[in-house]
Amino acid sequence: MQFAVVGNPINHSLSPLLHNYAFEVLGINAFYGRYCLDKEKDFRFLQTLGLKGANITIPFKEIAFSSCDETFGIAKKIQAVNTIVFCNNKIFGYNTDAMGFYECIASFKFKNTLILGAGGSAKALACILQEKNIDTTILNRSSERLTSFRGFETYTFDSFKPKKAYDLIINATPSGLENSFPIHKEQLIEILKQAQLAFDLVYGRETPFLQLAQSLKILIQDGKDMLVYQAILAFEIFMQSQGVVFDKNLLREAMKNFEL
Ligand code: NDP
Repeated sequence: MQFAVVGNPINHSLSPLLHNYAFEVLGINAFYGRYCLDKEKDFRFLQTLGLKGANITIPFKEIAFSSCDETFGIAKKIQAVNTIVFCNNKIFGYNTDAMGFYECIASFKFKNTLILGAGGSAKALACILQEKNIDTTILNRSSERLTSFRGFETYTFDSFKPKKAYDLIINATPSGLENSFPIHKEQLIEILKQAQLAFDLVYGRETPFLQLAQSLKILIQDGKDMLVYQAILAFEIFMQSQGVVFDKNLLREAMKNFEL
């Protein structure tokens, strides 16, 4: 059995490490690779590479959604998939980013959240938070992408004047990769001061956003656990599609303890 992560760029993806480690621990004869796609095409062609399923990453999650014959769960609402499986010449699509994120914060009892950014991952997070009845506001630097957040309170930086305290502040922008703040530092301090948790989707580095939150004595979390949880859920979908029975507790233990 072969699986892969598909995107562009793709070299940085840690998914092959996680999935191949799980195959090894669980004694499953399978391989997970990476595939760099030049441009959008019908994702059915991935089957001709011998793949049984794939994870989809930037920038193809929305186009992969439209390639699916059927989508399940919250993927319908988000209109983006990060996990597809091939079955009887059909493509079935799922979104495990949303639930992967929620597993990271499920033990907290947050009432409201502010998401910085309005891209694909912000959409996934907003949908799951709404489903879990957590009041969610979106703040983005430009207005265009905010139009896809119907049913949410949305602001651009210029129009935003915080009227309430937010328990959870999520940085769903790649600003940390550029070593910059997602919004003006002074504005960020005002918001963070009243928060319980600052969550950055970027992983593997302490971003300026997280450093600032820490300096204000706010609890912080990076995107590593989200990456791991979405991978666990995708792995379960892959194996279920192939009728492979395995120890789910062992999978969770292996992926959670894997040193990325
Ligand atoms: P998108 O490209 O879809 O969206 C990016 C958003 O961030 C846009 O709203 C954009 O604003 C805004 N933005 C981009 N750069 C800056 C900046 N320098 N300052 C302020 N705002 C900025 O990205 P995704 O939503 O797919 O991903 C966002 C981040 O989350 C990435 O770094 C990605 O690697 C990470 N991620 C982590 C995951 C995990 O498992 N840990 C899973 C998925 C994503 P505008 O609309 O104005 O362009």
